Amino acid sequence: MTYLIKCPACQQEGLDPRYSPIACIHCKKEFNIVGFCPTCHSELQKFKCCSVDFFCNTCNELISKKKVDFHVSPASPAG
Ligand SMILES: [Zn+2]
Ligand SMILES: [Zn+2]
Repeated sequence: MTYLIKCPACQQEGLDPRYSPIACIHCKKEFNIVGFCPTCHSELQKFKCCSVDFFCNTCNELISKKKVDFHVSPASPAG
């Protein structure tokens, strides 16, 4: 099951945090998503190749997507 986070543009859960930039499935706007560790606030590594969650190099542990502190920012228009 895909875990989606809330889109700041349309306020619906339409952003897949495994990808960045990612377009909202509802309003099609593009966003950059960066995940931060809820414990040490380091930027997390993403596992794009599988459904496993995020990994913190500092804490040396996997972080559930539901616990990750996601920072969502609008993707800059190309050019
Ligand atoms: Zn949206
Ligand atoms: Zn950490």
